[in-house]
Amino acid sequence: MQRQVRAVAVEERGYAEIATVGLLLAILVGFALFLYCRAEEQTVPVTGRTQRVALSEEDQAKLGAGAYRDILAESATEIVRTGPEATLVRRAGERIAEVADDPGFAWEFTLIASPMKNAWCLPGGKVAIYSGILEVAQDEEGLAVVMAHEIAHAIAQHGAERMLQEQLTQVGLLALSTTLGGLDSATRGTLLALFGAGAQLGVLLPFSRDMESEADRIGLIYMARAGYNPEAAIGFWERMAAAREGPEPPEYASTHPSDATRIANLQKWLPEAMEEYRRSTETGTRMLPRRPPWRPLLLPPAPAPRMAAASASD
Ligand SMILES: [Zn+2]
Repeated sequence: MQRQVRAVAVEERGYAEIATVGLLLAILVGFALFLYCRAEEQTVPVTGRTQRVALSEEDQAKLGAGAYRDILAESATEIVRTGPEATLVRRAGERIAEVADDPGFAWEFTLIASPMKNAWCLPGGKVAIYSGILEVAQDEEGLAVVMAHEIAHAIAQHGAERMLQEQLTQVGLLALSTTLGGLDSATRGTLLALFGAGAQLGVLLPFSRDMESEADRIGLIYMARAGYNPEAAIGFWERMAAAREGPEPPEYASTHPSDATRIANLQKWLPEAMEEYRRSTETGTRMLPRRPPWRPLLLPPAPAPRMAAASASD
């Protein structure tokens, strides 16, 4: 009799646990659906791909502007405000911004003296070019490749799209963790780590590589519209590959496509961009005056002239 009561009690506790897990799962699935559906479907310019993003354009721009202020404040003494290179960065930036599918960004272009071969554009049109990459760019057309690629990331709202993917992955991890509640912690840890690695390799990294490729393709079109020869992109990415220190990571584990994939894709998209280039140079309607041959960029290596009174709000 006593054994029977205990068995019923255990069974009831089992049901209660299942009900709790079920309820939690329903809440998490509901939350994931809410995140997904709240993000309205929209179309990426140039490629026409449909996407969903985590934040409104307005919120993205606010976040971008805040982050830009912080980063510039941190590197205030490295900001290069005057001189031919800073002028060229602004000019290439303004030329491309003028022909990009601009949703009304408050554009800013900053040259930062640093050996880093890097550049970025935050949501809202806040661009930074590190002087290290000027050596790879070599001239204004090379600089236009970098500029157009980074601007393309921002116009295509890749940051906010990635944010949504990460939020959904986190909810997935939580749901899995809830489902595995009955397992011992070592097994649960292993399964969660496996799921995390699977999501990284199977979803997040491939998405990241697709975004890189999309920025390459949109960038080609933007530089062509601005009157820069898009063929310059091939040479630029070849030089970037040659400048890399250490071996290239395997593509499946990388946020970026391999050098070979990138160059092959650029070759594939080049005819479309050359059409755009011919149109922009023939009609001259959307183009600022060209000044070929482009002046070589010869910025001395960092550190830049120190400016004690440099302010980040410039
Ligand atoms: Zn990129």
